[in-house]
Formats: sequence, C-alpha cells, structure tokens
Amino acid sequence: MKEYVYAPFADELRRLDATGSLRVLPEGAQEGKWITDSGHRMLNLSSNDYLGLAGDTALRDEFLNQTPPEAMRFSASSSRLLTGNFAEHRRLEQLLASLYGAEAAIVFSSGYHMNAGILPALADRRTLILADKLVHASLIDGLRLSAAKCLRFRHQDYDQLRALMERHHAAFDRTIIVTESVFSMDGDVARLQELVDMKHHFPGTLLYVDEAHAVGVRGRRGLGLAEEQACLDGVDILCGTFGKALASVGAFTVCRRVVRDYLVNRMRPLIFTTALPPVNMAWTRFVVERLTEFADRRERLAALSARLREAFARRGQAMPSESHIVPLVVGESSDAVRTAVRMQRLGFYVLPIRPPTVPEGTSRLRFSLTAALDAADVDRLTANLFTP
Ligand code: PMP
Repeated sequence: MKEYVYAPFADELRRLDATGSLRVLPEGAQEGKWITDSGHRMLNLSSNDYLGLAGDTALRDEFLNQTPPEAMRFSASSSRLLTGNFAEHRRLEQLLASLYGAEAAIVFSSGYHMNAGILPALADRRTLILADKLVHASLIDGLRLSAAKCLRFRHQDYDQLRALMERHHAAFDRTIIVTESVFSMDGDVARLQELVDMKHHFPGTLLYVDEAHAVGVRGRRGLGLAEEQACLDGVDILCGTFGKALASVGAFTVCRRVVRDYLVNRMRPLIFTTALPPVNMAWTRFVVERLTEFADRRERLAALSARLREAFARRGQAMPSESHIVPLVVGESSDAVRTAVRMQRLGFYVLPIRPPTVPEGTSRLRFSLTAALDAADVDRLTANLFTP
C-alpha cells in the first residue's frame, strides 16, 4: 500500500474545508433562467450567458434547421496546422475581421488557450509587459510563461502605469500594456482611451485588451467596450471569448495580419492542440452574424444591471461595478459561503468567489445578470438578500 503518497493531498483538502475554501464541482440542470439541483429550482445568477442566447431553444432550432447535415462535423480531428483547418474556421475569422474593421482575426480553442499563449509568443527578453493587477488568471499564466519582464500596476491606477512606463520603457524594445475591459470579478470598466493615449505617448507600445465579459454586451453592435468607447483602432490585440455572451465555445483575437501570421508560427496553445470542431465554428458564426440584432437584449441587460447596482448602492454597498457583473463583497470566505448557501435555499443560485480568485479578505457573492431575467427577479433578489 502506498496510501501515504496521497496523505498530503487529503490533508490540504481538509485544511481548505476548515477555512471555507474547499471547491467542488456544482451540479444542476439548466433551463432558461432557471437552474435545478436535487429538485430545488433556483434563479440562475451565476451564468455567463449574458444575452440569454445559450438558453434560447428557438435560436438553437433555427440554426439546426438551416445547417445541412454535412456541415455538422463534430471534430476537427487535428491541429489547425495539420488537417484541422476547415472552411468554417476561415469564414468565422473573415467575418470577425470585417466586423471589427481589422486586418485579421484568429480563433482559438478557448480564452484560456488564447491568454496563456499570446504573450509568451509575442514577448521576449527585450519586452516589457505592464498588466493591471486584477487581470484574469489566464493572462497571469501568460505573463508567467513569457520571457518578458512583467510588472503589475494597481487596479486601474493609470498614474502608476505612467510612472512605471517613465521608469522602465526606454530599456526595452517594446512594451505591451495588458488589461481587461469589463473586469470579471469587480464588473468595473477600463478607460481604454487613456490607455490608447498612453500607448501613443510611449513609442513601441502595444495595447492588449481582454474583452471576454464585454463582447456581445457592450457597444452599439455588441463588439465590446472598445466599440462603446470609440477606440477600436487604438487596440492592437483585441481579445474576445465565445463561451459567454456569444453562447458558444472558443475565443478570438483581432489584430494586424503580421501578428496573426506570427502567432500561427509561434503560439504553442494554437499549434499543439486539436482545432475546435467545425460545427461549433458554424454555430458561432450564426450567432456573430446576428450580433447587431441583439441590441434589445443588450438594453434589457443594461437596465437590469443598473437596477441591481442602484439597489446595492441604496443599502450602502460600495459599488465598483459599471456593468452586468455586480459583486457583493462580504470579506471572509466562510461568510461568503454561508450567505451563498442561504440565498440558494431561498431560490437564488449565486456562488461565493474566494481567494485565490479574488484577493484575501474580499470574498464575495458575484451576481452575473443575463437578459433572460426581468425586473421583478432583481427586486425579489434584493428583497431577500437584505432581509436578515
Ligand atoms: N478572460 C477572462 C477575463 C475570463 O473571465 C475568462 C473566463 N472566465 C477567460 C479569459 C477564459 O475564457 P474561456 O472560458 O473561453 O477559457
């Protein structure tokens, strides 16, 4: 018996459990805005299906009815660099490039692959990367895997960013500024024009923006925050994901053609993985083609989000959020778990977010709203949340 080999893992799990930090894979069946676990139906307040498209069966049926069986290929069967590069991949990339008015677009297996792969490919020892302190774990892994010198600036503190630029920029061949647009845990939004101006002030600087939580949701055509803030031209590496508002799987970057060609040659999570199945690409294209039409869903989501944020603010909750991601910071992990369990019992499916996902002492409930909800849902939620 070699049970002792496993003992440290078991000890660590017990320690996590004792501090309210143990993670388990939640179960539950989803239907529209509802999620049901062990016969208990709850309003789903933890989904990234921001426009309610993933739960829209009529939209799914429309896609299935118009897609011929021969296009329903469920595996690409190899990397895009071998035999996995189908017409569906190219069509989707062309559509994205033309929507964004960019030279090129490239699709990846997931946002995680994208963020963990682009920076190590583009950055070498002569590169300086300056990243917002709160960027997503996938970007942190990208920073860690790259050979660049990496510095993090305080969240949204562009004065500190400028000071770091002034101090270090001249010693490097190029600099990459990295930020999210709508931040995934606080729901606040970057001031992209300021970053574009900064980039122009310091020559040889590229701006990398992860719009995972903004694509589909922000901007008149749903292209994201850079569209809303009218600075699409100023973003060099604009990244989006398909697994959230766009109700699919995978991710994309719009960029210059030279960047796309370079990634095809140097980006390991693109080269050494099986391409996404053509059927997923076809579905993604079907959704992206309709992005403009979903303006009513975007407006509805914006109104619901404002309603929830205002309700929290009226109760004295400091409110960083300016989006559909609305956190309620509780502090200790155990308190966040307790409140989440209470809300779930009351029929609201909200999950606790704890370190290391968020900084120590800022455990929270993260409400993630979707256009499938209505104002009465939001009002019931706040009434229950603030009743002792
Ligand atoms: N970037 C951000 C900001 C995210 O929040 C996420 C996922 N939560 C990702 C990237 C990763 O995307 P994917 O789920 O497609 O791997």
